[in-house]
Amino acid sequence: MYSYTDLSGQIYVKFAHFQQKIHIFRDMTKKERYKRVIEYFQENMPVAETELHYANPYELMVAVMLSAQCTDKRVNMITPAFFRRFPDSEALAAATIEEIFEHVKSCSYPNSKAKHLSGMARKVILDYKGEIPSSPEELMTLPGVGRKTANVISLVAFGRPAMPVDTHVFRVSARLGLTTRARNPYAAEVQLVRHFPEPLLPLAHHWLILHGRYVCLARKPKCDVCGLSGICLYYNSGSKKSWDSGFRSHV
Ligand code: SF4
Repeated sequence: MYSYTDLSGQIYVKFAHFQQKIHIFRDMTKKERYKRVIEYFQENMPVAETELHYANPYELMVAVMLSAQCTDKRVNMITPAFFRRFPDSEALAAATIEEIFEHVKSCSYPNSKAKHLSGMARKVILDYKGEIPSSPEELMTLPGVGRKTANVISLVAFGRPAMPVDTHVFRVSARLGLTTRARNPYAAEVQLVRHFPEPLLPLAHHWLILHGRYVCLARKPKCDVCGLSGICLYYNSGSKKSWDSGFRSHV
């Protein structure tokens, strides 16, 4: 009898705790959720910036274009020699695609990247007087530059408000409940830009990327060491598989 009471009491306490948790997660407003996430990162990751090495908008553009489907580490191995040989858009525009290929052949998709880099540099010379433009709209006119790359350049090189959404940002923001039913990166971008205070966008972008890269991994997130598990919808949901299949198909 005693053990039954004890057991039922434990179950009740656990159930009440679970109910309370569910209550907290479901009733937490978007504003509160963002506040908690911002406070966490401000305390635990006060400095967050790109791991790509660059000295000016041109170099960042090249590095970001090379980083598609390639690690930042690999890109940082390629760019020093690349920038010595092609120090600006003019030098790059004057080079042949074959010569550019020789400098980028150790990263993924070197053929298409060499073509895009050449096309980008030529258009920058022709249409923008050799200067990398700053607005996402202008940046997206350059060959090989999509919305995500344009937002990265605009945000990181020029400090303009933007939220580039890559696979890490998309996944982490969905798991934490910063986005709701965002079916594609653009939908996530709109929600994130709406809720993060504008001055924090550059930091927030890197917070989410770095958290996704080192803690909230796609297949095996390190929830046991994650300081955000207390408010994480994914961690506290019972259907992790459906979460994963949901966003993998969109990014
Ligand atoms: S608790 Fe797990 S799923 Fe949630 S943000 Fe942290 S690592 Fe990602």
